[in-house]
Amino acid sequence: MRVAVFSTKSYDREFLDAANATAQANHELVYFDTRLNPKTASLAADFPAVCAFVNDDVGTETLKILAAQGTRFIALRSTGFNNVDLKTAAELGIKVARVTVYSPFSVAEHAVGLVLMLNRRLYRAYNRVRDDNFSLEGLLGFDLHGSTVGIIGTGKIGIIFAQIMQGFGCHLLGYDVYPNPKFEAIANARYVELPELFAKADIISLHCPLTPETYHLIDANAIAQMKPGMMLINTSRGGLIDTTAVIEGIKSGKIGHLGIDVYEQEDELFFRDLSDTVIQDDAFQLLQSFSNVVITAHQAFFTRNALTDISTTTISNITDFEQGHPLKNEISYQPLVSTATSS
Ligand code: NAD
Repeated sequence: MRVAVFSTKSYDREFLDAANATAQANHELVYFDTRLNPKTASLAADFPAVCAFVNDDVGTETLKILAAQGTRFIALRSTGFNNVDLKTAAELGIKVARVTVYSPFSVAEHAVGLVLMLNRRLYRAYNRVRDDNFSLEGLLGFDLHGSTVGIIGTGKIGIIFAQIMQGFGCHLLGYDVYPNPKFEAIANARYVELPELFAKADIISLHCPLTPETYHLIDANAIAQMKPGMMLINTSRGGLIDTTAVIEGIKSGKIGHLGIDVYEQEDELFFRDLSDTVIQDDAFQLLQSFSNVVITAHQAFFTRNALTDISTTTISNITDFEQGHPLKNEISYQPLVSTATSS
């Protein structure tokens, strides 16, 4: 099948080509560096399938253009689908499939990496020692052992993050709209309501999807309930955090450390080299200026294992569609059901 593959980097091509060859699928993968949006959708003219990533705009306008040009299938290289207008896709007869599961260890381990980096100020320590500055001033951390970690969203990634933090000897407080027995089976772990989690956690890590219900889950009201100096980690979706409120929280000292792999306006920034340009996003620049903030550019998923899983499932989804097999990873539009799903 001819597939227009958007937002591709060298690594996407490498892993997708390998998966296409291993499965002997023989799909004709045509790669575009550019993002998919209404202005670029014409590149997919006459392609029955389009392959998209997290910051591609698969909204109403894009879908209408794609449908008029003959596209009937969207294969997402992600688990999250908050960038897709599923209702319009259904109305236009376009099927959408995603990568339901890929190495959840990749994201959970990255979240733990942010915790360690922030707590022990490893980013400062690394630069200092390279500069022959061996002072410890400003590097003081705390033992993770005995500290309380709040986990919002205890699905595939949240559970693994919980298990790793349990290994450090942390107390775990979970919040999920659908409690997971695996979480309750972890020693020192219990579910609580959000106010208790906010009030008691030294570290809060977000692992729920971005939905209308979770948009700006961390806002001024939530921050007001948190422990002074707490650590906030977000490897899930930028929209879970009200950036303006978080900036105020950092300035007031409520938030003592912030580690984010995702950012509300990341589609204007991430997955590109902008080192020769002046970043126009003032909130992002302000966040960058704080010494207790670490930002990575949506790289939590970025392990060999995850890329292999993503590519293998994407090729399999395309093959299922081409051959008329049931689409096991299809995302259907469900008007009355909350989209409580996940990148
Ligand atoms: P998952 O579907 O297995 O788990 C999500 C959990 O969140 C579920 O248990 C669900 O019940 C819960 N949830 C849903 N709505 C909630 C709400 N309102 N409040 C609290 N909990 C709620 O998903 P996952 O595979 O663990 O992925 C979690 C998130 O991680 C994804 O949504 C995605 O946005 C993000 N992600 C980021 C990257 C990255 O590279 N940074 C990569 C993959 C996934």
